[in-house]
Amino acid sequence: MMLRQFLLATLTTAALLVGLAPNPVSAAIGRLPTSIIPTFEAIRLNLDADKMDYSGSVRVEIKILNPTKTILFHAQEMKLGKVVLVGKGGPRELTPQEGVEGLVTATAATEIAPGAYTLDVSFSNEFDQRATSLYRLVTGGHAYTFTQFEAVDARLAFPCWDEPAFKFPYQITVVVPQAHEAVSNTPVERQSVKDGMKTVVFRRTKPLPSYLLAIATGPLEFVPIPGMSIPGRVVVPKGSKALAQVAVTMTPPIMAALEKYFGRRYPYEKLDLIAVPEFSPGAMENPGAITYGDRYLLFDPKTMSTSQRRTFAYFTAHEIAHMWFGDLVTMKWWDDLWLNESFADWIGIKITGEVYPNLQIEADALDGVQLAMKMDAQLSTRVIRQPIETMSNLLESADPLTYKKGNATLGMFEQWIGPATFRQGVLAYLKQHEWGNASADDLWGALSKAAGRDLRGPMSTFLDQPGVPLVHADVLKDGRVRLTQKRYLHYGVTPPARLLWQIPVTLKYSDGTKVMTHSLLLSESTATVVLPGLAGNAPAWVHPNGARGYYRWSVDPATLTKLAEAAPKVLSGSERIGFLQNLDALLAAGDIHGDQYLRLIAAFADEPRPEVAGQLLESLKSAKAFFVTEDLETPFAVYVRRLLGPSKKRFGFDRSPGEEDGVSILRPQLLGCLADEGQDQEALTHAEQLAKSFLADRGSIDPSLVSQVLVLSAIRGDAALFEEYKKRFEAATAPTDRMPLLSALGNFRETKLREAALAYVLDGPLRPQELFTIPQTMAGTLEFRKQVYAWVTKNYDAYAKKMPPAYAIYIPYFGTGCEEEQLQKTNAFFSMPEHSPPGAEAELARVLEGGNDCIGLREREGELVRRYLNQLAGPGEGAGALRE
Ligand SMILES: [Zn+2]
Repeated sequence: MMLRQFLLATLTTAALLVGLAPNPVSAAIGRLPTSIIPTFEAIRLNLDADKMDYSGSVRVEIKILNPTKTILFHAQEMKLGKVVLVGKGGPRELTPQEGVEGLVTATAATEIAPGAYTLDVSFSNEFDQRATSLYRLVTGGHAYTFTQFEAVDARLAFPCWDEPAFKFPYQITVVVPQAHEAVSNTPVERQSVKDGMKTVVFRRTKPLPSYLLAIATGPLEFVPIPGMSIPGRVVVPKGSKALAQVAVTMTPPIMAALEKYFGRRYPYEKLDLIAVPEFSPGAMENPGAITYGDRYLLFDPKTMSTSQRRTFAYFTAHEIAHMWFGDLVTMKWWDDLWLNESFADWIGIKITGEVYPNLQIEADALDGVQLAMKMDAQLSTRVIRQPIETMSNLLESADPLTYKKGNATLGMFEQWIGPATFRQGVLAYLKQHEWGNASADDLWGALSKAAGRDLRGPMSTFLDQPGVPLVHADVLKDGRVRLTQKRYLHYGVTPPARLLWQIPVTLKYSDGTKVMTHSLLLSESTATVVLPGLAGNAPAWVHPNGARGYYRWSVDPATLTKLAEAAPKVLSGSERIGFLQNLDALLAAGDIHGDQYLRLIAAFADEPRPEVAGQLLESLKSAKAFFVTEDLETPFAVYVRRLLGPSKKRFGFDRSPGEEDGVSILRPQLLGCLADEGQDQEALTHAEQLAKSFLADRGSIDPSLVSQVLVLSAIRGDAALFEEYKKRFEAATAPTDRMPLLSALGNFRETKLREAALAYVLDGPLRPQELFTIPQTMAGTLEFRKQVYAWVTKNYDAYAKKMPPAYAIYIPYFGTGCEEEQLQKTNAFFSMPEHSPPGAEAELARVLEGGNDCIGLREREGELVRRYLNQLAGPGEGAGALRE
């Protein structure tokens, strides 16, 4: 599954922790007994998307191992009809009773003897309308049904054994209106028509867990994807076929690269990529039937940006990779969901980079790791491989920390044992467990065997304990370096316990003429290392993290300055990005001061690589979040304009013919940062003009700039423009047009327009997954944040009720703040049980800790930063002077 990264961009890092409430205890998840084993399930559903409800029946073949009077299965919030058990002793009716979380106990009047039985259950139900489970939606005047089951929502659609270890074949039959099409995991076996209704019987599936089943019905249309080892199609809502071409062209090379990596063909009979207009995750890896939020799959070539192309490639590689890792071999229980996702994330990036190197996915990957390290720096972080015993644990187990920390850890150990050996271990693991279930331990076993050394121990230090390590390097005069490790924490935070990691460390260093590297496993709290090739002399500089390991690093101030100065010449683009990201960590830990931070990042002002210049924009956003109060906005804008002057000159506001993709990805961000944080009138006017051209003719501007210029044009926009954007949003036919127009609606500044935008969130024709966009955009402007918070809390019930339940846990991010008073309000409101659905408490803890960190950082560094910013002269001075 591919996650949307909501408000996590607003997470801040820094110091001081106060008053966190412990997580409330939530009830244990009820588990099904293993003494009743389902071996096959036939599901029949009457799905008329034009109605609000549906009915169906299931027949499950089961083996009962011990004498019993009860049979347990999952069926949540539906009306159950007859439950009949057929087998030894003839048919008998059982009495069902629904318990917590849909665990049904069906009781027989007398004892059931061990043996083979079939269980027949009929039921009726209403369609969900919040893009959850089996749900209905209307788009373009037509109704459709779709499904999204991970993790525990299949039980809301039909009776089933809804746990990943119950992995067996299914056969799905749907009865739909004659004019509708139906798609599921397998090809159609046969179909027939009677009385205006069409019965579609799909082929029996390979063994699957319930969370991977998928169904789509309605007036769907199909576009073939030629060039794969199996038949493929893009499946679209009526009238959208013209938007499928990008997917048709870009998918086959990704499939081929994955088949090559896994050394075997794609394991299922066909592959459909299904565009779903209302969808809660980004995409979902149902075997043979990958579902995507439509804006990630369907593109109008006139408005498709380079970053959308990159996202499509990455999502597709991620989901297809799951066909082997997750679908062919499935986790035994949700405590290894992290591995499922981390692996797909890791290989998705690897394959995207291999097939489409020009898209520079690497920079995106580094951003993800930075986000994980920021979350992991807080005491409110958690162990990624945690026991899943409650629904809260389960819901928080698929957050960005899981995806990105796991990904970084896998990548680090791949480097340590070598990519070829690592791959060999992965293939052995898949071979051994194909069509079945496995655990993380099985994978470590296979990797250790391939490598001929133990990986379990070192990996466990990253997976079974929380936090990120800090490696400090003391450069000694005789060509040696003393390394020390400890848990990385923010300034003033006392470590709750002493933790030790086994860290694959790569040191990069120079004797002043050539650059060398040296790798080792740091498993003690301290170690002294001789750097080869220095002949007993001190190195010119040392970079303690030369291979993107999952750790923060620090060096003495003199080495840090030397390294910053040498960076453009001696560090690679990725390393320069890592250097800038690590500065955030040094600032939050109190290793460098706020003004020093602003001076150090200025060393990168003249950066030639677009992806590193992009990281500079991120550093500016960090600085803004940490330090900029309303009275500092103007001096900070001066700093931003001077810092970004060289980038503005180098990359320009307009696409130049034949430029590399990285520049096209950077430009909208650069324009946005200059116009917004930099208050650059030239950038703002330019954006307004481009928006005007776009409104007159969609194809007239660089597609990569469309989204950004619409949003920027709202800053000085009036009521007429607001209405125009609203009209265009409601008439949009390309799914990718919707989000930019909604963001724009949230970026108008007049009071009346802001009020109208917020009202539109509840009254407008927004899809469940779009409910965050307007308030999130508005809260990006400091002076409006309080208004958004007031609106969210006042309308909490109506707002939360409209969104998929998995989204509501992120609402506390609207209470993000850098003032004590705001945090107290946030804590009071979101601690109330009615505002704290399962999973939300962990997010609230992060919001509060981030806020307290920010307060501490401002108290500590605010004055230095204020003095530094206020002494900056006018825009005439160059970026060079920023370093003095
Ligand atoms: Zn996934």
